[in-house]
Amino acid sequence: MISRCAHPGCGRPFKYLHEGQVFVLPVGQASQNAQRNLIEELYFLCADCKRTHTIIVREGQPVVVPLKNKNRIAPRGKEDGDAA
Ligand SMILES: [Zn+2]
Repeated sequence: MISRCAHPGCGRPFKYLHEGQVFVLPVGQASQNAQRNLIEELYFLCADCKRTHTIIVREGQPVVVPLKNKNRIAPRGKEDGDAA
């Protein structure tokens, strides 16, 4: 369940729908035999974070990424840290 902004550097409590953006993302865990059980999970970005970031699913896990990288997979490495 949504409780906080998904941005790792933010964590603002989720209070109102209109103060941010809710994402419904198919996430799941890959097991050893590559089977994947996808379930839809809700994630929230607060109003500040949604201006600069979005959430994508990478390898079954939600990842908060800067908006400019929205449509492409960034090279392996650390995701954007603190935009503040
Ligand atoms: Zn936030």
